[in-house]
Order: sequence, then structure tokens, then C-alpha cells
Amino acid sequence: MEFLRPATWADALAAKAEHPGALPIQGGTDVMVEINFDVRRPEALLDLNRVGELTGWDDHDGTLRVGAGVPYARLIRELGDRLPGLAQASRTVGSPQIRNRGTVGGNLGAASPAGDAHPPLLAGDAVIEVESAARGVRLIPAAEFYLGVKRSALEPDELIRAFRTRPASGPQYFSKIGTRNAMVIAVCSFAVALHPGERRVGTGFGSAAVTPRRAREAEEFASAELDWDGRGPLRESAAREFGELVKRAAAPIDDVRGTADYRRHALAVMARRTLTWAWDDHRAGTKGKEAS
Ligand SMILES: Cc1cc2nc3c(=O)[nH]c(=O)nc-3n(C[C@H](O)[C@H](O)[C@H](O)COP(=O)(O)OP(=O)(O)OC[C@H]3O[C@@H](n4cnc5c(N)ncnc54)[C@H](O)[C@@H]3O)c2cc1C
Repeated sequence: MEFLRPATWADALAAKAEHPGALPIQGGTDVMVEINFDVRRPEALLDLNRVGELTGWDDHDGTLRVGAGVPYARLIRELGDRLPGLAQASRTVGSPQIRNRGTVGGNLGAASPAGDAHPPLLAGDAVIEVESAARGVRLIPAAEFYLGVKRSALEPDELIRAFRTRPASGPQYFSKIGTRNAMVIAVCSFAVALHPGERRVGTGFGSAAVTPRRAREAEEFASAELDWDGRGPLRESAAREFGELVKRAAAPIDDVRGTADYRRHALAVMARRTLTWAWDDHRAGTKGKEAS
């Protein structure tokens, strides 16, 4: 197996153009498991760890651009106040060792319906920045990035450069159900983000359809239902209806981690609870648990 080690982003793109079959490796927390278990035997590995352009983030004109190689541990530490939903999700990923190595770029590259970064990226309207040597940069809204089980809109000659998103303008929450408390793949997961300036609610859920998805009807319902001007309380019946609409957006399967019925039920509960927490925070003038 060839091992390619570009030192710059331009070299990485050139290497991917020359070897479209080369498998990118960042933290390696998915790739090495697959190689060790003989799930894949790529013709070449494209190690991105020397590419400095992937490991930084910046904030320009109100948009955060976070390099694909920023590990979860740094995301929690450095961006937890600006991206509280994604930071909450990052805290649930694996163990400290996995959070030190694993990245949102790798989660996107794997495009598993159970990946924990996806629901908050969807709820926060993130855009995925991908690039190829031949065609340059493409910006793909998260909602259009996931195409099927472990399939994304990334072309064979493209690499993920970064994701872009606005810092939270309101409370955000992430909730995940696993078969134990840590080191666990989501049975299902849900993220909510309030966008008070636009009077809008964003959502994302995982492990309950072939791809991570938004629950659009639920978003529309809650956006219209919430008392953005008066900040009045969220009616219990409205919170329940929101949960039911999220449940209806799901298309889960029975598998070893849980049944489809359980997943639907759990999604409705997580959606009701997280919307209630987020709205209560908004009424209290706070941005959620990660806010400083
Ligand atoms: C013990 C353990 C526990 C885990 N727990 C969780 C968990 O709780 N939640 C969760 O979501 N995941 C979990 N994972 C899976 C994994 O840690 C995550 O998916 C992580 O985000 C992968 O990031 P990485 O940088 O290690 O990716 P890699 O393993 O380096 O790559 C993953 C995929 O992305 C591709 N890729 C990487 N970088 C790029 C790029 N720049 N451009 C294009 N493609 C790219 C690779 O080719 C590969 O297909 C766990 C894994 C292990 C081993």
C-alpha cells in the first residue's frame, strides 16, 4: 500500500487528483479500524496530518470556518462558546483519546448516519467546503451533503477542506441515546438550534434514517409556534407536537442497537425536551450549557 504524505493543501489536492483511489486519513479513528478489520484495503493512504491549512479555524464577517483536521478536543475547548450544539455532540464522541485524534472532517468523510457531528451541523445550517485540483472549491450545504449510508456528495478527486457556520445566535442542544453512557454509537440522536434573529428553529437527527436529516415540518411548526416577541412560555402541547413531527420525519430500521419503534419514540422525547430547554434558555437570556 502506498503512503502519501503531502505537506501542503495544494500538494494534497494534487495527490488526490493523481490517485483518486487514495484514502484520506486524518485522525485515523475510522480508517485504522477499517484497515485492521480488513473492511478496506485501499491502494494508497493519503495522510493529511502534515497539512497545516486543515488544523486552523477563523472567524470572518460573522462566519466561522473550521478546518477539517481540527480534533473534537480542540473544538470543545476553543469553540464551545460559539458552537455549543457541536461541542455537546463532540463531548459524546468516543473517549478522550478518540476526541484528541478524531475530527469533524473525518466524521463527514465517513458520512455514517450515526456520526455525532451531523445533527448539530444540520441544525446550525453548516456548509461543507470541499475542493479539487481540477474544479476548485465547492460549497455544499450540510442538508445536501449526505446521500446515503456512508455516502456523501464528495467526488473521488475532492477533499474536505473545512465546514463553515455562523456562531450560535441562540441556544443549541444535542441529545444522544446509546446503550451505555460513553464510547457508544448513537441508537439515535437529535440536535436543535434556535435562530432568534430569523425567528427560526433548526433541527438535525441521526441514526434514524439512511442519512442524517433535518425535520423540516417540525422546524416550520416550532418557528411559527414560538413567541419570539413576547418570549412567552412554550406550550406543553406544542412541545409534544414538535416531538411528533420529528418522529414522523424519521425512517429508522430495527438493528442490533435498537428497534425502529424505540428510535421513533426516543426521537420524539429528545426533540420535546431539547426544544423546551432551548426555549427556556432563550427566555432567560442565556445561550445554553456551553455559553460562558
Ligand atoms: C473507539 C471509537 C469510538 C468512537 N466513537 C464515536 C462516537 O461516539 N461518535 C461518532 O460520531 N464517531 C465515533 N467514532 C468514529 C470516529 O472517531 C469518528 O467518525 C471521527 O470523527 C473520525 O475522524 P478521524 O479524523 O479520525 O477520521 P479518519 O479515520 O481519518 O477518516 C474517516 C473518513 O473520513 C475520510 N476523510 C478524513 N479526512 C478527510 C478529508 N479532509 N477529506 C475527505 N475525506 C476525509 C477518510 O478517508 C475516511 O473515509 C469512534 C471510533 C472509535 C474507534
